Amino acid sequence: MPTDDLTAHIKDILNALSEDSKEVSQNELEKELKKFLEYGVPIEQAKQTLITKFGGGASFNSTPGSSERTLISDLQPNERSVNLLCHVIAINPKEITVKGENRKIFYGILGDESGTIPFTAWNDIEVERGDVIEVSDAYTREWQGNVQLNFGDRVNIKKTDKDKLPKAAFEPKEFKVKDLKSGLGTVDVQAIILDLNEREVEVNGETKKVFSGIIGDETGKAQFTSWHDFKLKEGDTLQITGGYVKSWKGIPQLTFDEKAKVKKIDKKNISRDKIKIRKMPLYELVEEGGALDVNVEGTVIEIRPGSGFIMRCPECNRTLQNGKCSIHGDVEGKPDLRIKFVVDDGTAAVSGVMNKDLTEKILGKTLDECKKIEENVLFEEMNNLLFAHRINLKGNALGDSFGTTLIVKDAEFVDIDIKKESAKLSRELEELQ
Ligand SMILES: [Zn+2]
Repeated sequence: MPTDDLTAHIKDILNALSEDSKEVSQNELEKELKKFLEYGVPIEQAKQTLITKFGGGASFNSTPGSSERTLISDLQPNERSVNLLCHVIAINPKEITVKGENRKIFYGILGDESGTIPFTAWNDIEVERGDVIEVSDAYTREWQGNVQLNFGDRVNIKKTDKDKLPKAAFEPKEFKVKDLKSGLGTVDVQAIILDLNEREVEVNGETKKVFSGIIGDETGKAQFTSWHDFKLKEGDTLQITGGYVKSWKGIPQLTFDEKAKVKKIDKKNISRDKIKIRKMPLYELVEEGGALDVNVEGTVIEIRPGSGFIMRCPECNRTLQNGKCSIHGDVEGKPDLRIKFVVDDGTAAVSGVMNKDLTEKILGKTLDECKKIEENVLFEEMNNLLFAHRINLKGNALGDSFGTTLIVKDAEFVDIDIKKESAKLSRELEELQ
């Protein structure tokens, strides 16, 4: 929407603001209004929210003191006293150990008309999914580049009327699969089921069926979990409305249950053969903290120790050190082969692991043949083959506090024809003269 069209709306807002409301510039209003429109909030709704925010007859910021409401999209890291009006999109308990003591915390997602945010409650909070709540004295931190909301000892949470929160807060927003990221709620996604698994889990002593797998559209792939039997079938193209997104090791996971709407749709641009593997520079992978089924390219800058022929524990698959598992002690190890490496594309570097099959392919040797070769000789061979070579990799990237690791499913050397490249370069130089 061009700026000119907003001028009239901004005037409306300024007129509606009472004289004792706090000062706000036209520029600031325009910026805020644009943000709402980007979020898909209807213009009248957005205007009303801004009038309320900047003091024109507010209903919920009329309490004296610093209890002004912050919109979720305005939250910054390290705010100490945050007040929100929002609804609970997801809430899950989690058992953690603090100084040797078991403690139950809660994490989930909150939403208002401006957006959604993940939160962690360090004490028991008696709210449920769907509740509309007024939160005061929460605080924020930054975690992996995102704002994270925390409920500590000082927080005060009050259930309130659903009507207090603008309708836009509950309206689903459309997302492409590649844009799904942890903390999004009430999303509307159109995707095809590429892979489907069924398993049973215990929830509060009851056995429940869970359906999970991989969905994709023309932009990428993500994992999903359904806590309800929607009679999903592999190959179905679906519109899934009302799910939320959490992530496991940086890989987004669309989660939904019986409250979501799932219907079959007919979409020609979402078909199995149109779903391409996502190509991305490494910095993007690092920024996202992980991704499913990606394609990256870079130069191998290091072969890591621990590469080569190894023995694994038959019980837990850990690598044995001097024939011992750190958990299971002396065990009969099973042989395996791998290459651990670091790849760099000029924008960032990530670690990667190649499994036995890929390592055999790269080396042109079987595991049994590798077993007979001395450790440092085999390492040298890997180094010669890979170090400083450009390589194209496909696989899943998992992120944790140690960084991002690419679990390689396929690897190919990229042949750069040096003669051709230099001929092209000198031609270009000649043309410049
Ligand atoms: Zn073990």
